[in-house]
Amino acid sequence: MTEGLSFETLPDSQYAAQLQQETRAVPFPEPIESHYVRSVLRNNRVVVRGTCTLAMLLVTLRAMQTLLGHRLPFLSVPGAVVLASSVGLLWLAWSPSYERRYLPMAQVLVPLRNVVGTVLVIRASAAGATDALMVAPLALIGPFFFLGLTFRSALLAGVLALTSELVATWWYHLSANTALSTALFMVTTFVACALGALALERQTRRAFLESQLIGELAQHDVLTWTKNRRMFDESLARLWRQASSDARPIAIMLIDIDDFKAFNDRYGHQAGDRALRQAALAMQCCARRPLDLVARYGGEEFGVILFDTDRAGARETAETMRQAVQALSIEHDASRCCDVLTISVGVAVVEPTAWRNPYGALQLADEALYRAKSSGRNRVEVMDDVEHRLLVTGEFSTDIIAQLKSGASGA
Ligand code: GH3
Ligand code: MG
Ligand code: MG
Repeated sequence: MTEGLSFETLPDSQYAAQLQQETRAVPFPEPIESHYVRSVLRNNRVVVRGTCTLAMLLVTLRAMQTLLGHRLPFLSVPGAVVLASSVGLLWLAWSPSYERRYLPMAQVLVPLRNVVGTVLVIRASAAGATDALMVAPLALIGPFFFLGLTFRSALLAGVLALTSELVATWWYHLSANTALSTALFMVTTFVACALGALALERQTRRAFLESQLIGELAQHDVLTWTKNRRMFDESLARLWRQASSDARPIAIMLIDIDDFKAFNDRYGHQAGDRALRQAALAMQCCARRPLDLVARYGGEEFGVILFDTDRAGARETAETMRQAVQALSIEHDASRCCDVLTISVGVAVVEPTAWRNPYGALQLADEALYRAKSSGRNRVEVMDDVEHRLLVTGEFSTDIIAQLKSGASGA
């Protein structure tokens, strides 16, 4: 599905960067690998739980046969190891912390159980119970396909089980005929499983990267790789509710590039696109707290949300952004305010309450931006709660505010 997509246009996507490389069944760099492993475990939860439960039933059946005296002693130390590791895997598979704890423990418990189980099977076979050999291939198939291990862990578990099988046939003096046919069958099963699992893991890893990239594309503006307008609107509604319940101030900025039409006319649209990207990156570097959000609001306008930020903090961040863009020193001969590319910033700082809605605050930021433009551009204007209280839905008049303020200061 990503054929035809130019990954150069997705500069900050770690998933796009991975897709550009040949996808092999090797671990991704962190944190992608942990994310991938958790998603595979989540998708395979039913299979892993079912397999662990069936394996536990098989082991229990074998122990019962031993207790009833029909079989060779199973409740020896190796038998106890198989039983304990099966119980451990079953518990991990059904535990609430499955996604976090299953894999690290399974990487140890699966090879342990399968190695000891394989030795027990060969021992039983050497003692005459040749039907026990039927379960030996399960020690190779399970780790590759049904126990939620990554390819590398499954490969290690398979190599260990295979080696223990070969050593055990020699140790317990299995007949040459049985030893050879068992070994051939096990090696063939192992190679087939390994090749199948390798191909499957390549596909799974690629599908994971693609689905993550689709998720990122749905949230980002592809030119500037800031969040898109949909994310801005969603985040604003969510942070507004949170700020309202936590009684925290919230700052909303609307940022507009100065004389950008003239920039395009003078330097061309491609240079305009490059300048937009650079400016967006500079602005993003100034708003890096976990809840901060920089989004492309539309055209050459950006929206920023700063949670729990007061008037002084908002002005400082806005001023840092303005200086950061100016410091890029992108030549702009046609600008009316400066000889390099600059931005104007309108900031609204408000304390959300249940009866206010965020669109009033946006309107306030827009009003502040208008003021920044009309007072010369390349500047920051902040408006706060006093102005916000004077907003009537759909109406806002700076004249009214000016009148009220002069009345207040005169009083
Ligand atoms: P002001 O200082 O008043 O904001 O003047 P301005 O010229 O920036 O304002 P105006 O809204 O008239 O022009 C915005 C321009 O931004 C027009 C459009 O060509 C340009 N623009 C919008 N989106 C893009 C884009 O994605 N790439 C490029 N290169 N230009 C864009
Ligand atoms: Mg504009
Ligand atoms: Mg503009």
